Amino acid sequence: MYATAYLNNQQRMNNMKNVVNPSSTKELLKQFNFRMTKSLGQNFLIDQSILDKIIEGSELTKDDYVLEIGPGMGSMTQKLCESAGKVVAVEIDKNLLPVLKVTLEEYDNVTIINHDILKLDLKKVFEEHFGDKKVKVIANLPYYITTPIIMKLLEDKLNLQSITIMVQKEVGDRIKAAPGGKEYGALSVAVQYYARPSQVLLVPPHSFIPQPEVDSIVLKLDILTNPAVEVESESLFFRVVKASFGQRRKTLLNALTAGNLGLTKEQLRDVLKSVDVEENRRGETLSLQEFANIANKLYKYF
Ligand code: SAM
Repeated sequence: MYATAYLNNQQRMNNMKNVVNPSSTKELLKQFNFRMTKSLGQNFLIDQSILDKIIEGSELTKDDYVLEIGPGMGSMTQKLCESAGKVVAVEIDKNLLPVLKVTLEEYDNVTIINHDILKLDLKKVFEEHFGDKKVKVIANLPYYITTPIIMKLLEDKLNLQSITIMVQKEVGDRIKAAPGGKEYGALSVAVQYYARPSQVLLVPPHSFIPQPEVDSIVLKLDILTNPAVEVESESLFFRVVKASFGQRRKTLLNALTAGNLGLTKEQLRDVLKSVDVEENRRGETLSLQEFANIANKLYKYF
């Protein structure tokens, strides 16, 4: 009787450590009296095969150093610890720390940082934990701050090799969109300036607890050694992109004129003509190279 009770207890503990299934996840939530916070984007993955495909898609080896954003209860973190050399995971919710202590108990290659990823000095974290080594970011992102997180990772010019992320499908479609479609916008240009996006897999809502209201997609962003196009000034390039997409129904010339770039309509018309871009086109039809040509021509006016 005593032995059976001990075994059941042991089984429960082992089950709890394996957080990637509905029953163990629920058990953990109950055990720690943990209530998920919707406003923190807490949708936990409960599908083992999806996790395996994310790890496979990120091409992890024991040689790799990994930054995870939002470990939650640690389902993906466990996999990362098993597949990578070193893992640093940044989690904002301090109520998850006792859970992570149990689920990650067996791993000595993980550090949890209890902080808001958007307020963290990532350069310092990289220096402290990763040294000169290129880092892979792998995360099931909190959807309420997907874009700011991606832009912070890219703009902070960290020593990154790739970013493999779960995002909501609609955002993923915008990130990987090519010119000409309705999904192509400032986010597509910004990400594709720094990285080459590719789709790893689609993930249905029932792979999470609780189920999100949207479909999800895992993307891999391979960081380019040099940005996709050469620009004289990055800030001017991004001002041109922002202005071009700022007023989607306007022609490119009118959108740029309304975009506070400091040039008259006539000057902008000359710029477009000199780089062979029709003034009647819409921003969403321009390639990165065409945006760069416009920005580099404009640069001469400043
Ligand atoms: N990785 C877990 C999984 O796949 O089951 C959890 C993913 S859940 C979609 C997002 C996680 O990000 C949550 O654990 C949430 O608490 C955390 N989070 C939300 N906002 C954050 C922020 N600003 N900084 C760091 N972590 C954050």
